[in-house]
Amino acid sequence: MSELEIIDMHCHLQRDAEHGQEMRDYFLTPHLVKPGAPNLGTLDEFKELMAATGISAMNALMFTWSGRYLRHGLYTLPDDPEERAAGETDLRRRILRRISDNNDWAASIAREHPEVGYFAGVNPVVMGPEAALAEIEGQRAKGTLGVKIVPSDMGVTGSDPRLFPIYEYCIEHDVPVLTETGGHSPNCRPGGFADALAKFPALKLVFAHFGHDKEFGGPLDREVLDLTRAYENVHTDTSLRLHEVGDGSVEPEDMVKHLRALGTDRVMFGTNYVFSDLLPERPAHKPAPADVDPRFTQVWKSVQVLKTLPLTDDERAGIAAGNFKRLTGFRLPAAR
Ligand SMILES: [Zn+2]
Repeated sequence: MSELEIIDMHCHLQRDAEHGQEMRDYFLTPHLVKPGAPNLGTLDEFKELMAATGISAMNALMFTWSGRYLRHGLYTLPDDPEERAAGETDLRRRILRRISDNNDWAASIAREHPEVGYFAGVNPVVMGPEAALAEIEGQRAKGTLGVKIVPSDMGVTGSDPRLFPIYEYCIEHDVPVLTETGGHSPNCRPGGFADALAKFPALKLVFAHFGHDKEFGGPLDREVLDLTRAYENVHTDTSLRLHEVGDGSVEPEDMVKHLRALGTDRVMFGTNYVFSDLLPERPAHKPAPADVDPRFTQVWKSVQVLKTLPLTDDERAGIAAGNFKRLTGFRLPAAR
């Protein structure tokens, strides 16, 4: 049996240790970070993770917490209305540049490292729809495999009209869009995309983490299930979910049933590293064996679950890498 090729289609790469520290101290606040966890999400750490877990390639979802930058930057502006307006214009310009520089950095990493792909991040609410569209066009020329959006940071749902020009462009140019999901903000409910999908049924939309309901198969997961059934281009990824099987809180057979209900050709393996191993564990958490690097516990568990779920070989290969390659055109150079 040949080795299973595994691509982590959902991970978060930080530019360097300082950027990783900003992610921990600034972005994740007020979430608790797992005490003592040293993870920063840098490229060197990604390489160690791949070697330790048998993952062949990583797709970095670029996310600049631009909504937060804007909200916080506005606190610093002066009272005088004219100066305030000028300050806000300058602030938005600087944030736009920050987004673009982060995407450019990812493009340069992907060029130098064929085992790294990326989705360019945009925030049309902060940038304005035209600038967001221009950024996507520019990143397409630089090699982006898709677009990443974060509704909780944008402060709007997936059906906000400021997103429509992006959807139109991405349909026209066959570019997938991946969105954050979860119950931490009403804006990132999968159901918030229903109106957009009704208007843009051809959109290749990936809902992260099956919908990320607290309860496996709960309302957010069901919204993703309904949308995958209604729209043939809707996909999802396994990030933050497979280790529920590893922890024994979800039965392998129930996970397979859910994967088949979604469509095993619509699901892609992902981990959400570095967040996966920085956020506090669920109550059912079981540690990995002692010979596993504790920095990569959740990723390691997810890989073991992927390898052992009672799926057919074709289903497993599709979820592990094939579906992502089909969706994005990503190819690794011939191995070894
Ligand atoms: Zn994520």
